[in-house]
Parts: sequence; C-alpha cells; structure tokens
Amino acid sequence: MSEIIPAAPGWYVRTPDDPTLEPVLAWQTAVQHTRDGSDTGVLLPYIPNSAGRAPSLIPAESFERSQWEVVYLPETDKPLPKPPADINPGLPATVPCPVCKADVVYVRCLDRYVHEDGSDNRKCWLAVSRGEVRTW
Ligand SMILES: [Zn+2]
Repeated sequence: MSEIIPAAPGWYVRTPDDPTLEPVLAWQTAVQHTRDGSDTGVLLPYIPNSAGRAPSLIPAESFERSQWEVVYLPETDKPLPKPPADINPGLPATVPCPVCKADVVYVRCLDRYVHEDGSDNRKCWLAVSRGEVRTW
C-alpha cells in the first residue's frame, strides 16, 4: 500500500495550458516506470477539487505526456488580494463563512469562497471540501 504524506505549503502543480497553480494537498509514494526500463520511486501529488469532491491524485503519466510539473513557490502562499465589491453581480456581496462566520465573498475564477479580509481560509475551505459543515 502506498503511503500518503501531507504536503508542506508552497508546492504546486503547473500545467502548460493553464496559468492557475494547483496547490498540492498531499503526496503519495509510487513507482514510476521509465522509458529505459528502470523504475524509480516518486511522489505523486493530490490536488483539490471543487467542494464536495475528493482530491485528485495526479498519475505519473500526466507528467510524462502533458508536461505537467511540480514547482516549489513558497512566495505564492501569500493571502489572496481583496476582490472588488462588484465581482459577483446578482449575488450578495458577502455571506458568513460556514466554518468561522467571517464575511466571505465568492470568487468565480477560483470557484471558491474566500475571507473578505484576506485572512487565510485554508482551514475553512478544507472543512467545507471535506463536508464537515453544512453550506448554503
Ligand atoms: Zn472561515
């Protein structure tokens, strides 16, 4: 059975066709079969899905065939910039976070609610993603 290792902040998966960096949540140990016939131990990343869906394990083939790469960019973990007030026309400007009750705003490009004050919402987002709280 492969081992799952929690990922430290700053690790991302970068794909050539999408500028969005996907944060690595955890690693799974695996063996990658190489073209020359030798096998090598690797860490495959889990990346998040939308709320209510389990994280995805990226198979080694995605790195070989699609030029995906894992990058370490610790400076990327800064808080998100505050979204403009009219980012979501027709939706309430803010709603209470289902976990910590702070004001949150929906950011369409992230398909995610973020704390309006820019504070870290990773814990809240993980709780929502894991289905630990009831959402709207
Ligand atoms: Zn929260």
